[in-house]
Amino acid sequence: SKTLHIIGGGMAGSEAAWQAAQQGIPVVIHEMRPAVGTFAHRTGHLAEMVCSNSFRSDDHESNAVGLLHWEMRAAQGLIMEQAAAHRLPAGGALAVDRDPFAESVTARIMAHPLISVSYEEITELPADGHWIIATGPLTSGALANSIRGATGAEALAFFDAIAPIVYADTVDMSVAWMQSRYDKGETLEEQTAYINCPMTRDQYEDFIDALLAADKTEFKEGETAGYFDGCLPIEVMAERGRETLRFGPMKPVGLTNPHQPDAKPYAVVQLRRDNRLGTLFNMVGFQTKMKYGAQTDVFKRIPGLTEASFARLGGIHRNTFINSPTLLDDQMRLKSHPHIRFAGQITGVEGYVESAAMGLIAGRMAAAEMRGETLPPPPPETASGALITHITGGAEAKTFQPMNVNFGLFPPIDARGGRRGRKDRYKAYTDRAKAAFTAWLG
Ligand code: FAD
Repeated sequence: SKTLHIIGGGMAGSEAAWQAAQQGIPVVIHEMRPAVGTFAHRTGHLAEMVCSNSFRSDDHESNAVGLLHWEMRAAQGLIMEQAAAHRLPAGGALAVDRDPFAESVTARIMAHPLISVSYEEITELPADGHWIIATGPLTSGALANSIRGATGAEALAFFDAIAPIVYADTVDMSVAWMQSRYDKGETLEEQTAYINCPMTRDQYEDFIDALLAADKTEFKEGETAGYFDGCLPIEVMAERGRETLRFGPMKPVGLTNPHQPDAKPYAVVQLRRDNRLGTLFNMVGFQTKMKYGAQTDVFKRIPGLTEASFARLGGIHRNTFINSPTLLDDQMRLKSHPHIRFAGQITGVEGYVESAAMGLIAGRMAAAEMRGETLPPPPPETASGALITHITGGAEAKTFQPMNVNFGLFPPIDARGGRRGRKDRYKAYTDRAKAAFTAWLG
């Protein structure tokens, strides 16, 4: 008999189950709570929001997260349906009353004739059948070890160490320049892999002062237990000595500033290309526990980044995720075990909305496959498609870290005919996405 099994009834697993069942496929969700808990979940409900009660911006005309909301609504998503039912006033954000929200998602799933929930921890990768693994950032240890056994130790991380990511077109290239250290690399792609931001001695000293003074967040109780393997935040490096960064990630060697060929920089912040499109660059070695507001204040002191805007800010969190660019095909199946799909945060997307969206697509893909069909991923011009394209191939595998949806992941829209305003440009992205998503649904 053909049953779809989903491990994990969180944001992704709940949405995946709903989508597959709505297509006529029987589903069993295997959920370990309430018997086995995590340090962040408090209840036994499905789709529990573990921290903030917000699904972020609901603006589907000029915001990529809002666009993802729109796409999930167009696909009759359960998470968006229940978010609307439990919406709280929050300006442009989609905030919800978290407990009633999770209770209603649970009730809708329990009432569905084709879905049942089995409350148990799954500790091993299943050998056969149709499966979606949606166990999230806090996947239980036993299952994580089993996944690790199948994927290799390098391909499963227990922490993210996120360096901030900058939109390439907001870097001031009259100050910064492109060059790889010691001019390594033959191809144009390799030679344009790095952007360098130079600092004088005074600028470096000011930067270190700002770093030491900045507001930081602490790890939560239980978060680091047994896992943290020392990927040091920059502010901790700075605390160890004022010169540590200058001899570490900010070393100025092997680089010549074409804007000032005679003045050797005292320190250099390097940005590395983060996606094939070349629209996003990450700040090399700049993982940090600074609060978001502090990060933008501190990073805007870096010459070349004074006007930069960030696709995402840095962080370090407990987060189980796989190296999707090497492990998954574009159907979100494990290449080595194609009866297993992955969905949600464990695939290397970040956030409730992104996780639910990946569940939605994985659920539909699995349902199609079980009917003997193939559902292609949504086109890369859509928010869901841009995320899938990024995690299954567009991202650099070596430096892969979890990603929020953002317009830097979309194929760029030609700005010919004059610089369009940011709002107009985003509207062009979302119009194009809605047309493409509607066609894909059809
Ligand atoms: P989850 O929603 O975590 O669901 C996974 C489910 O799998 C859980 O119910 C878990 O109990 C179950 N499970 C795990 N292992 C097993 C197993 N072996 N067998 C059976 N069941 C299992 N995102 C935001 O957008 N905003 C935030 O404010 C935010 N804050 C966060 C704070 C913390 C501390 C953490 C860890 C994450 C936070 N996130 C936040 C990210 C958020 O967790 C995810 O975006 C989202 O919940 C992920 O959805 P998911 O379905 O992939 O995982």
